[in-house]
Amino acid sequence: MRHLIDRLFQGERLTRAEFQDLVLCEDQEMLELLFRRAKERTEEVFGNHVYIRGLIEISSYCKQDCFYCGLRCSNHKAQRYRLSPNEIIATCEKGYEMGFRTFVLQGGEDDYYTDDAICELIREICLSCPGSAVTLSLGEKGKRAYEAFRKAGASRYLLRHETATAEHFSRLHPPSQRLQSRMEALATLKDLGFQVGAGFMVGSPFQTAENLAEDLYFLQEFRPHMVGIGPFIPHQDTPFGKYPAGDSGQTVKMIAITRGILPGALIPATTALATLSKDARGRALQAGANVVMPNLSPEAVRVKYNLYNNKLSTGTESAQMLAALREELEGYGRKMDLSRGDSPLWKA
Ligand code: SAM
Repeated sequence: MRHLIDRLFQGERLTRAEFQDLVLCEDQEMLELLFRRAKERTEEVFGNHVYIRGLIEISSYCKQDCFYCGLRCSNHKAQRYRLSPNEIIATCEKGYEMGFRTFVLQGGEDDYYTDDAICELIREICLSCPGSAVTLSLGEKGKRAYEAFRKAGASRYLLRHETATAEHFSRLHPPSQRLQSRMEALATLKDLGFQVGAGFMVGSPFQTAENLAEDLYFLQEFRPHMVGIGPFIPHQDTPFGKYPAGDSGQTVKMIAITRGILPGALIPATTALATLSKDARGRALQAGANVVMPNLSPEAVRVKYNLYNNKLSTGTESAQMLAALREELEGYGRKMDLSRGDSPLWKA
């Protein structure tokens, strides 16, 4: 195992079988070595900085029907809302005053916002928050839409692949959603010059060690600029409501391996991880994560963006608690960095 960890951090390509050995490793001494190496590699590339992104959840309407997600269109108990363009811009401006220089507009796949309306929104944010990065996370769209968003000034796009195994993907989604089109969307985004975020859930129903190894192998081949890795957490009003949540330790392990694969990646300590376990965000930040995304959405709508049970939206997940977040990060020996924090692998 030590040899495998050495090779991972020497930048060597690993096979699927080797990734699977890492996924299955439970030797405490080896895991500590893996976490230490991941932390050192993060510091070599990024120093002790942790980048802060302002997350704005713009709509809880979604036309998709992912079996794991509380926003799925078949969940008739979900509370739906959408923010108006003016509300979104005002939220960005408030964040800008607080020092935020990245705004992540995330939402369900909601056709209420036309591509033109999204472009107009991007342009307005770029004008009213100069020097900021606009990140989109609005699901699968066509090439023309992505192209227009890029032209309008968006520079990053988060689209988790969820699982890189087609058979597993088809057990998490209805037949209308296919892994192939998700992968094509990711490739298109990269070709268009976006900083692209892929990622997956850990512990999603039916997931095997082989599936996780495939996810890591995919990251090695595709080389995204950002990687979102969080535990699956059940939502009571979905078909997966009775499945157990993913494990926080296994999630931190996946983050550490990902740091070995992609030294320059921006890897968040996700809200799902913080929801699952109190100290998990700290553990992730000590093992390769270097991004935190506090929630900037207006307080009144936060509980309605309910992806999974007990989702955190207060405490240090809220921008009002920026001072507390700074303190928490300093406790891990890390420095809160509100600057744009572009990927070192990206050229504007
Ligand atoms: N609609 C956009 C998309 O699909 O990319 C963005 C919003 S979607 C809700 C954001 C992410 O939430 C998904 O990529 C998924 O990994 C995560 N998510 C959804 N349901 C979840 C659950 N039950 N547990 C953990 N993460 C979940």
